[in-house]
Amino acid sequence: MTADSMDKKRGIYIHMPFCVQKCRYCAFLSFSAEGSPRKEYMDALEKEIKLRSALERERGTDKPADTIYIGGGTPSVMDIAAMSEMIKTLKRSFEIKPDAEFTLEANPATLGRKDGVMLAKLQAYKFMGVNRLSMGVQSMDNDRLHYLGRIHTAENVARDMEIIRRKGFSNVNLDLMFSVPGESTEDAMRDLERILALAPEHISCYSLQIEEGTPFGEMAESGELTEVPDEEDRETYHRICRRLRDAGYEHYEISNFAKKGDDPAATSPYRSRHNSLYWNMDEYIGLGLGASGFINGVRYKNTSDLEEYLAVLEEGRLPVAEEHRNTAFDNISEAVFTGLRRREGIRYEDAVRAYMDAVDAERPEILPGDDFRDVFWDIFAEAREEALGYAGRGLLIISDEGLKLTEQGIDISNSIMSLFV
Ligand code: SF4
Repeated sequence: MTADSMDKKRGIYIHMPFCVQKCRYCAFLSFSAEGSPRKEYMDALEKEIKLRSALERERGTDKPADTIYIGGGTPSVMDIAAMSEMIKTLKRSFEIKPDAEFTLEANPATLGRKDGVMLAKLQAYKFMGVNRLSMGVQSMDNDRLHYLGRIHTAENVARDMEIIRRKGFSNVNLDLMFSVPGESTEDAMRDLERILALAPEHISCYSLQIEEGTPFGEMAESGELTEVPDEEDRETYHRICRRLRDAGYEHYEISNFAKKGDDPAATSPYRSRHNSLYWNMDEYIGLGLGASGFINGVRYKNTSDLEEYLAVLEEGRLPVAEEHRNTAFDNISEAVFTGLRRREGIRYEDAVRAYMDAVDAERPEILPGDDFRDVFWDIFAEAREEALGYAGRGLLIISDEGLKLTEQGIDISNSIMSLFV
């Protein structure tokens, strides 16, 4: 393990690829749970956990995890006993820090119908160590939820939140989607007010992306669906940002907002620690179908083919489909790309340290005393002029310490970030 990777934080992501039904816009790796091999999946996942932890120990790259994130799909449709066994295996296989953030995605209307059932399920999650819930609410308008193909109603969300609070969960994220076809900025703002009334500690806001191969993608192709124009989408986004800031949320990443703590000048204690690992170029182990990992400078991705995933683990092998050792340029490019997503931006020092962290014979040596800013702009000499152009138009802030997008710059973040790829 390199010296710098010793300092990096470590997360564990576990993918649960099953949902009650597919939403009409969904391009995530998920299948309808009906008739799916859920038991076989959990057995295979336990095998993968053991194989992966043995490999990390053998390579000397094992270290205590700061975060666990169970995402999907819809993890809350999984059998609670199987989930609990899997978590026991995880904790026996990997060292988890006592104060680790442990997030579980739990879609509304999948926690149970009766209060008693929900409370028991939430108790089981608490027992596993879950201390943060992330709910895919998307909208608080029942017609829009129906149109999106979601299985829940706004009433389900309000009731779930009431029971979640009763069970003592004090760190809850709600996802909100905007720019759904037919939705105006005013509609989105009404949705946001209903989300705010539930007082979540964290809100993720995304505009709907119409993806090829989804029912919405087909509807867009046939002209049955008209996407919200860009200008309106951007107006909605900026109004959401302003409203959330006024409501006491810290806008810490393009799409993410965390409630401020007691000290409004300090960083919010409710920032997602797990997602911050991705934006900070920290390390994470990915487990489950299609999951990705980044350990000791190597990125890997598991197969996305469910049959192959089950078969390979049955043979006692890891289901890795792709592996790539990052070059020094990969590292710095990714550090800038992901770092610019954060409202504080990227510091030259952190970007250059990511560059130096790579085991790459091609990388020119950086000497002690070299100025991080100079090294950064030597590496990105070709991008400099265009970056200055963006700065001149008030879209990018270039300081002595580093770079960050302005709020207007977020609207063209992909173009700005692509300068550094
Ligand atoms: S709940 Fe999420 S993962 Fe499942 S189908 Fe809907 S959008 Fe996709």
